[in-house]
Amino acid sequence: MSVRLGCIADDFTGATDLANNLVRAGMRVVQTIGTPDGSAADIADADAVVIALKSRTVPAAEAVALSLEALDWLRTAGAEQIYFKYCSTFDSTAAGNIGPVTEALMAALETDFTVATPAFPDNGRTVFKGHLFVGDVLLERSGMRHHPLTPMTDSNLVNVLAAQCSCQVALIDHRVVADGPEAVRARIEQLRATGVGIAVVDAVSNDDLLRLGEALAGLPLVTAGSGVAIGLPANWGIAPSEEAATLPPATGRQAVVSGSVSVATNGQVVDYLGRGLPAYTVDPLRIAAGEDVIGAALDYADAHLGSGPVLVYSTEQPDAVRSVQGRLGAAEAGELVEQTLAGIARGLVERGVRQLVVAGGETSGAVVQALGVDRLRIGGQIDPGVPWCAAPLPGGETLHVTLKSGNFGTPDFFTKALAALEGSTS
Ligand code: ADP
Repeated sequence: MSVRLGCIADDFTGATDLANNLVRAGMRVVQTIGTPDGSAADIADADAVVIALKSRTVPAAEAVALSLEALDWLRTAGAEQIYFKYCSTFDSTAAGNIGPVTEALMAALETDFTVATPAFPDNGRTVFKGHLFVGDVLLERSGMRHHPLTPMTDSNLVNVLAAQCSCQVALIDHRVVADGPEAVRARIEQLRATGVGIAVVDAVSNDDLLRLGEALAGLPLVTAGSGVAIGLPANWGIAPSEEAATLPPATGRQAVVSGSVSVATNGQVVDYLGRGLPAYTVDPLRIAAGEDVIGAALDYADAHLGSGPVLVYSTEQPDAVRSVQGRLGAAEAGELVEQTLAGIARGLVERGVRQLVVAGGETSGAVVQALGVDRLRIGGQIDPGVPWCAAPLPGGETLHVTLKSGNFGTPDFFTKALAALEGSTS
């Protein structure tokens, strides 16, 4: 059986967010890190493949090229519908990349129409009369106004998209969506007949997303945040099931590697330490001084891994992080810590760790790369937006890994995540 839904995500955590929604809606999902080199043979039982790109903030021409390469692979894998996933705050610059990538995908798919909606009401993202709200405020009044790479100063997505596109952009408003899938389909046909290429769609509730999902059956291309994904699996007769989230049994030892310095992760480290469990602190200044921090952390792990999980963390309060950044430079400190934690993660896996919690978006990227992981089978969620995953290691064994970006998860996330796997340990 071939892939039903082929997804192209413009960043890594966004890809996981989408994959997580699809699994919860009943699809078996594989997320790949970049477009795979090889064939689709080893994802044969996946209903959806999500290709995670790093194309959100690269120049538009590069984003287009990366997305078309992903599209080619997904079509070869047999994908029946393509889903271009971007951020729920529609992160883009005046030059793109959402518009140019959308139009390039439309051209390659030889389709003259698609929709666009970043709505995800469960995460406080709603679109009303074409305007995107972040929680209770308009996008242009939210923190996104001052985003360093993609400042969003206009909440009207029809305007934002029209400025990035050569085709005509229009709106399918909430009254049409409220009237149901037939009304949406009729409106699509009407817009199409008048030469509209892309319709921004209002959605203020999950019910809107479900109605919209049904209306989009058979459309070659959908562009959206992760919200629209909840309404698509039903178009293939797929319903939520535990089976979709089933991973192979977990084996081996357990560890946590935390390089996130966010408020939530600081709380999670404090919670973990409060339980008196073994933990090793990575000090950036010792790395910068040339000490063998990787070796020292792994010696510590050798002494403790046999009796239970070990936490290795560089997580610190903002004041301490600023002080380190002042001495080493922010980018240099970040890179040093990421590479050290990635080296430690590799050493932990060499020592038999097969259940690994990683905290921090950038940290996760460095760890996954160091481990040679290029794809993840997505399992059940531990906390909203954070699933356990199973990844094939280069040697053929399976690593269970969860990649938690900064502010996700409850304070007991680390112990909760590890306990969730215990039931499945073989
Ligand atoms: P988050 O998802 O919380 O933003 P990231 O891993 O994406 O976490 O980013 C945290 C950044 O901070 C990384 O580059 C990491 O290497 C760096 N870092 C981690 N610990 C420290 C520390 N103690 N001092 C300075 N920088 C740190």
